Amino acid sequence: MSYEEKREELVQHLINRKVLTKKKVIDAMLKVPRHEFLPREAVSSAYIDSPVLIGLGQTISAPHMNAMMCELLDLNEGEKILEIGTGSGYHAALCAEIVAPSDSNNPGHVYTIERHKKLVETARRNLKETGYDKHVTVIHRDGTLGYSEQAPYDKILVTAASPKKIPQPIKDQLKDGGLICIPAGSREFGQNLYIIRKIGREYKADKITGVRFVSLIGKYGWPE
Ligand code: SAH
Repeated sequence: MSYEEKREELVQHLINRKVLTKKKVIDAMLKVPRHEFLPREAVSSAYIDSPVLIGLGQTISAPHMNAMMCELLDLNEGEKILEIGTGSGYHAALCAEIVAPSDSNNPGHVYTIERHKKLVETARRNLKETGYDKHVTVIHRDGTLGYSEQAPYDKILVTAASPKKIPQPIKDQLKDGGLICIPAGSREFGQNLYIIRKIGREYKADKITGVRFVSLIGKYGWPE
């Protein structure tokens, strides 16, 4: 079976499970070559719905989690997105495929932050090789500080587990009416995935489901 056929099978599985419902997200999941974001030895797991180790003890989330976060964030063409936790760069590419499709005359952009230099380099290479580097900028720093240089953002996704108290810079850098998708809770015992809407000075959080992410480590996250 070709990678494309495997990808179609995975997407159909996620549609059947009702994880995928929005056409934009479905099209992006069909298009972005997940296998090109994985270490060579893990490529055979690219289209299985499970997390994969990407080095330095970090993981690329399972496809259903990538899909769910994109659906919850209601991404649209033209939007400016901030991702905390670049990892392989796959999720950033998925977001870019939605906010900056190739035929767009109003392309959005994805700014994504990673704390491990080695992962920054791998993600940049993966994004370049797949052609997503035009619409994705990878930044090497502590993502709990956000990236005020390009703020405010329409949508923010955090792909590492935050303490219950969400980093204030991330909240401050969201546009009024914008959304944050973030796993928050315990470091050892799992988290809940939240979708948070900013309305004026208020933040309204909805708890979606129990999850388990690697730790968000930094000034406003967990200690090293
Ligand atoms: N979205 C990624 C997977 C993320 S795994 C993908 O598609 O592959 C979580 C990532 O968050 C890890 O790479 C980890 O190094 C990074 N991370 C943890 N704390 C961070 C912080 N404070 N700032 C930036 N990146 C962080």
